[in-house]
Amino acid sequence: MALIVQKFGGSSVADAASIKRVAKRVVETKKAGHDVVVVVSAMGDTTDELIDLAQEVTPLPPVREMDILLTAGERISMSLLAMAITTLGVEAKSFTGQQAGVITDEVYGKARIIDVSPSRIKDTIARGEVAIVAGFQGVNPSTNDVTTLGRGGSDTTAVALAASLKADVCEIFTDVDGVFTADPRIVPTARKIGRIGYDAMLEMAASGAKVLGLRCVEYARRYEVPVHVRSSFSTHTGTLVTDQEDPSMEQPIISGVAHDRSEAKITVVGVPDVPGKAARLFEIVAEAGVNIDMIVQNVSAAATGLTDISFTLPATDGATATAALTADQPAIGFESLQYDDTIGKLSLVGAGMRSHPGVSAKLFAALSEANVNIEMISTSEIRISVVTRADQLDDAVRAVHTAFELDDTETEAVVYGGTGR
Ligand code: ASP
Ligand code: MG
Repeated sequence: MALIVQKFGGSSVADAASIKRVAKRVVETKKAGHDVVVVVSAMGDTTDELIDLAQEVTPLPPVREMDILLTAGERISMSLLAMAITTLGVEAKSFTGQQAGVITDEVYGKARIIDVSPSRIKDTIARGEVAIVAGFQGVNPSTNDVTTLGRGGSDTTAVALAASLKADVCEIFTDVDGVFTADPRIVPTARKIGRIGYDAMLEMAASGAKVLGLRCVEYARRYEVPVHVRSSFSTHTGTLVTDQEDPSMEQPIISGVAHDRSEAKITVVGVPDVPGKAARLFEIVAEAGVNIDMIVQNVSAAATGLTDISFTLPATDGATATAALTADQPAIGFESLQYDDTIGKLSLVGAGMRSHPGVSAKLFAALSEANVNIEMISTSEIRISVVTRADQLDDAVRAVHTAFELDDTETEAVVYGGTGR
């Protein structure tokens, strides 16, 4: 008998029929003799719809009220699921993040979990009941206000609860059969990964793979929570995200190809090529609270002594960064700014890359054969990322996936649901 945390995403609880289907699945696990704690996301696109609704009321909704509004989404699904499970003859009780003891810092909209004290959840388990917890939310102890953990945060709730309860496994149920070598929505020949280490999964998540959130993987790695990513629409075994790949086995050179469409590129044109200018430029961006990703500085033209510096950042921070830089233009003395949000980022991830030469060469060759121009490059020990035109990104992902022989020629990846919104 094990303690299992099961998390169901929005597309798995999109309507009443789906909620009943999930209830059956939870009850099956319970009847198999396990203790079950369930974490749910908001139904379908509820969170997006609530955001749209707030925008209709006011273009700049106060962040505190946004958090209260958005936590309602998960509360709807948790109570409906509790009802559905009870109807099947198993006692179930739902809890908000606050009731479940999810304690966060005070940052509305992207709060971090600082502690989990799930005494009510433990009591519920002890009584032989199923505990259902609203994902993506917690409470800040100094303000006593509810907070949200950032988009996709229910995964983090599930892993944090699993860590605190010392669960045997955290099952993340989604609308695909696991973690794939590329997004099956773009690459139907993507292959399901049976097992992946935390490090490689972390790079995949950081590079735009949406199947698991970055913070969730960070949390799982820190507390060594085994995570099983699988589909709520099938009974197939999914992907086990865990500490180490089997040490007796060689690590795969490439785990997968991730992509990201959420970034933009700023080019600062005509920066005086003297010490201190880059430092000042990135200080300004940092002071504006903007996280940057890739940076490229061109060779300066000898005649002018001026250079261009390009960097990528989340497109949602584009206006903030541009305004901050423009305000400091006289002091830095650059000529102009170019803003481009029609870029895409492709990342090749694999722990075996560390000890394997020739990976970059093969990547660049694949892109050149597909006629894809590379605009920026960055690397880590186990990742190579390139920036391309946004409209070439899908082709680029498919070409690279094929070049690294990741295509599955036998089974086609299934996308069971979700709008991908
Ligand atoms: N409902 C929230 C969102 O859509 C949290 C989650 O789904 O994990 O971002
Ligand atoms: Mg969602």
